[in-house]
Amino acid sequence: MFQIQPLTPERIARMAAGEVIDSLGAALRELLENALDAQATRIQVEIWPTRWQVRVGDNGHGIPASELEQVARRHTTSKLEGRSLGFRGEALHSLARLGSLAIQTRHADDAHGWLAAYDRQGELIHKQPAATALGTVVTVADLFADWPLRRRALPQTRPLLTLVQNAALAHPWVSWQVHQEGQLLLSLWPGKSLQDLLLQVLPQLDPTDLRYRRIQDGDSDWEVVLGLPDRLHRPHPDWIRVAVNGRFVQMPDWQRLIQSVFHHALPRHRHPLVVVHLRLPPEQVDWNRHPAKSELYLENLTARQEQLRQHLHSLLQLGSGQASRRSVHLIRASEAKVVYRVSPDLQSRFPPSDRPTSLLPPLKALAQLHRIYILAEHPQGLWLVEQHLAHERVRYEYIQQHWQLVAPATPVTLQGLSPQALERLEQLGLEPEPFGPNTHLIRRLPLALESEDPEEVQGSLLELSRCQDLQAAQVAVACRGALRNGIPLTLEQMQKLLEAWQRTANPHTCPHGRPVYLALAEKDLARYFRRRWGLCDRPISDSKLGSLWELDPLGDRFAAQVRRSSGSSASEPTDEASSAPL
Ligand code: ADP
Ligand code: MG
Repeated sequence: MFQIQPLTPERIARMAAGEVIDSLGAALRELLENALDAQATRIQVEIWPTRWQVRVGDNGHGIPASELEQVARRHTTSKLEGRSLGFRGEALHSLARLGSLAIQTRHADDAHGWLAAYDRQGELIHKQPAATALGTVVTVADLFADWPLRRRALPQTRPLLTLVQNAALAHPWVSWQVHQEGQLLLSLWPGKSLQDLLLQVLPQLDPTDLRYRRIQDGDSDWEVVLGLPDRLHRPHPDWIRVAVNGRFVQMPDWQRLIQSVFHHALPRHRHPLVVVHLRLPPEQVDWNRHPAKSELYLENLTARQEQLRQHLHSLLQLGSGQASRRSVHLIRASEAKVVYRVSPDLQSRFPPSDRPTSLLPPLKALAQLHRIYILAEHPQGLWLVEQHLAHERVRYEYIQQHWQLVAPATPVTLQGLSPQALERLEQLGLEPEPFGPNTHLIRRLPLALESEDPEEVQGSLLELSRCQDLQAAQVAVACRGALRNGIPLTLEQMQKLLEAWQRTANPHTCPHGRPVYLALAEKDLARYFRRRWGLCDRPISDSKLGSLWELDPLGDRFAAQVRRSSGSSASEPTDEASSAPL
């Protein structure tokens, strides 16, 4: 045993430095944050993984010559907590300790720039004038030279790029360039919003598949981008990202919350794309939770989470139904045929909604196609709504909201339940009671099932006895009772279904994640039909039309008459399509 002794200051400083900077990525992160704090609008990153070297150049305000002596000393900062990304004055000091640090900088007040080099204690060892543009270039070379354990594997490029991309998403007004070993890897142009940058970072995204909103909500300012669940999802949760006050952070409960909003709106094992940037008054954020500031404490956490949930839900509402650029491919994609267990009866009960109908796009049912699709007119186009999927979504949300158990007027009998089936019903709280040989009595039912007819209820209960958990049970019941394809619907029934479906919280997909509707935008139809001249738009009465066709099968007089009745040359062909040889 040894006596308890205080650590030497040298050990303490070494440990602290290692805590802040634990990788080349951490070095890059700190340099990026310093450049952003200096109000840079152009940031250049160069990385040399083999040399354990990183350099960040910015056009920010620079460091005054008089301060070059201080900057790399421990706990020296020019910043106030919360007003900027840095505030601890630790990064440059740690970088000096763990590698070799050089700074070239020019501040607006100085006649020329300076090049400065530091020793392992963060003391200035060399300073010379240098021709430098306004701004700062910080180079850290030979990182971890004395820490062989940290150097076991060469730094990977991908996480370094992710750092730059995240910084760019949170600071869209900055332009960025990243070089590795002299080769350009990434360049990003400034944009106006998180969404502008996201489209550069993920160029394969189609902007029509995203929803973006910036929301001022009291003292908070939200930027939220999400991928519409019927059009976009990912194999990994790598694009569920949250930034607070300019920095992306680890917020597992927010990630879970976001996942939960998309739960049963995406196919199994798929994840949404959601990027959120929340800007708050600095006093509501405490960054002193993690040395890398990758975690934080937030004031009013639950209220903020509730706000986020609402913003996501409102972005998921049906809007103008902008057609996806990929709709053509969507139409072509042949989907595997799925067979449903279906109920013979049309469920006519729809959940009551607290969402004002006036906010919903007016959809008018026009016809049923192949007894599968509802053709609906939308002010901006034409929608095809798959009747089974739409009804499944309606039922699923209704069932979720009405799952509380009630006692039915007459108990339901079930026969031939296996021990596992009994156990599952037990877990769902349905308490099957033995009632004669091979028969059980159910005295408690989910409210959503109460009004179904007895045979239907039995079917639903058997379905439930096959489900592993509550969520799966709710999906199964929703699907089972949903209006199946092949059932003819009246216009009134279709209209009712459309309205109920529009009011759901997550209308884009059914609970298995399949898209519910296809929107054809009127502007795309107009382009397709080369409709620029008003000839065909003029109203003509039915009787006139009939007689015109009789007298004039080729339509010459018909066209002439229309032209005359329009009374101007405005209806003359004007676009290039009309002059093309026919
Ligand atoms: P912190 O960022 O917490 O203040 P750092 O060790 O990262 O601590 O930086 C110390 C100081 O050096 C900063 O407060 C700032 O004044 C100055 N500094 C560092 N990098 C830059 C830069 N790129 N441009 C201007 N000033 C910088
Ligand atoms: Mg800093």
